[in-house]
Amino acid sequence: MKLEEIFQVYKENIMPTYNKVPLVFVKGKGSRLWDIKGRVYLDFFPGWGVGNLGHCHPKVMQGLRDQVSKLIFVPNNYYHPSQAKLAKELIYCSFPGKVFFANSGAEANEGAIKLARQFGAASGRFEIITFENAFHGRTLATLAATGQKKYQKGFEPMPEGFKQVKFNDLQAFKQAITDKTVAVMLELIQGEGGINIAEPDFVLALRKICDEKKLLLIVDEVQTGIGRTGKMFCYQYYGVIPDIMTLAKALGGGLPIGAMVVKKEFSDLLSPGMHASTFGGGPVICRAALGVFKAIDQDKLLKNCQNMGKYLLEKLKLLEAAYPVIKDIRSKGLMFGVELSIDGKQVFDKCLERGLLINCTHEKVLRLMPALNISKNEIDKALKILEEALKECR
Ligand SMILES: *Cc1c(COP(=O)(O)O)cnc(C)c1O
Repeated sequence: MKLEEIFQVYKENIMPTYNKVPLVFVKGKGSRLWDIKGRVYLDFFPGWGVGNLGHCHPKVMQGLRDQVSKLIFVPNNYYHPSQAKLAKELIYCSFPGKVFFANSGAEANEGAIKLARQFGAASGRFEIITFENAFHGRTLATLAATGQKKYQKGFEPMPEGFKQVKFNDLQAFKQAITDKTVAVMLELIQGEGGINIAEPDFVLALRKICDEKKLLLIVDEVQTGIGRTGKMFCYQYYGVIPDIMTLAKALGGGLPIGAMVVKKEFSDLLSPGMHASTFGGGPVICRAALGVFKAIDQDKLLKNCQNMGKYLLEKLKLLEAAYPVIKDIRSKGLMFGVELSIDGKQVFDKCLERGLLINCTHEKVLRLMPALNISKNEIDKALKILEEALKECR
């Protein structure tokens, strides 16, 4: 199919639920993407948070190829070795407990919500407190948890039992707790919400209150997990352990997977028949995910993420000093928000023209989340383009 024909078919046959950039991609390797015309792009927002290893990492591809040639589906009423290996890996990297496999971030969060409700059922508790500017997904329950009116509009009524309070505001959180409250759910770094970082004292206090009041602490690591922030999971910076952690995006190395990891004492609450997902944790995806862990370990990607995160931050600080349109830089590891005083879309467009892919969220926040195996050379290249773009936009 030719370029124009592809656009036309999309227009006529695919529901228009996405704002789209008119580029057709056909090949990817590491932090590079090729479009149908053969032009190469440097990808500083690979897969919308999916590409922590960049595109088509050899260790992911290897497992995939091998598995695809043997067996591609095993229903969850049987066993297969890769799901066992992946669960073991996840628990080894996080905390003692058990895993439920799903297919997306929203579905992982949906599972966490169901588990919390099951936990509270005996005492009549069901309410979950979430935070302003959160993002937990697009299913009805996760949309209610997300709480943002702009995503909910036209889809009311929302499922009941969710309450939003201001992020990092302990007082507001305490006041929101009632005898119906069963859990609190948060991102430690709000991704879609503009790279807003949870304060350490706030998170410690949440953990303490959850223990005192027997609430579940649900941490949504769909975007922050799998090495993005320089540790395998972002909660590991905070000296707390969540009761439930949800994962998706980068876990599958490019393939769809979601997972919730549940602490031991709560991990048998959902018994046979109470929750399920047909495709959850299938052999192909599990092999891909095992390749992700292997790459992070063998290629020492957490170290590289920390080092390159520092390097990128230093370079961005230089830009901040030179370009007053940069108002603030927020980051952890290789998760960056660059807040501007101007509309970020024009900067996004100028970068795109020059072959650099980034993201803009909350109108004014440029989001950079390069692959964990990014090099200094690639960072230099990207920042040169970003600087040229800023020059034209001031
Ligand atoms: C992307 C995202 C989700 C939703 O994941 P999907 O796979 O799109 O359902 C949930 N939570 C966070 C923090 C996310 O970034």
